[in-house]
Amino acid sequence: MMGEEEKTVTNISIRAAYDSLEEILGKNARNIIMRNAGLHRAIESPPDYTWDKEFTNREQLSIYQEAAKLIGKVGIQGVFRQIGFRSAEITIVKFKVLDSIKELPPDEKFDRCLEFLTSAINRGRLVKIANGTSAFDNFDCTACEGIESTKPYCSQYTGTIQFLSDWSYGKGEYIAEEVKCKAVGDETCLFELKKK
Ligand SMILES: [Zn+2]
Repeated sequence: MMGEEEKTVTNISIRAAYDSLEEILGKNARNIIMRNAGLHRAIESPPDYTWDKEFTNREQLSIYQEAAKLIGKVGIQGVFRQIGFRSAEITIVKFKVLDSIKELPPDEKFDRCLEFLTSAINRGRLVKIANGTSAFDNFDCTACEGIESTKPYCSQYTGTIQFLSDWSYGKGEYIAEEVKCKAVGDETCLFELKKK
């Protein structure tokens, strides 16, 4: 028997992916993806928006892998990006998990958002880049494990960072970009904001 993998993934991140998959691809596709990812239990009773860690990294990864299988290479980056954006939006706007920092100045607010992201997904870190702005360094990105791609692959994080930027600085101020990605051979997956 194989050893049981440690549960390191929060309910909140699985639930946000679950809800956004339904919005973006519809209920049937969402259920197919969850079933193929081995997450029948989440279809029957979706996890609450809590910080409890009841899922494994492998399970979370499977959601994205199964979505990629269903959609195919051509459209998947756009879908990942939408899932990342909507997941963050649902968590923050609908479930108000960051309401306590709503009124902070934009730079501080964005930093707090990135810290929130690292706790919610249980990986990555906030880094300051040359011009002093904050970026998200997903050095332990598992989404890109075993993936080879000619363009940045783990675009769910680009979508999430885009939402966090819009929420902190206002829509249209910055565009989130994945400037490095392990899947294209870089040493890390790095996300930065570019002035529009
Ligand atoms: Zn990656």
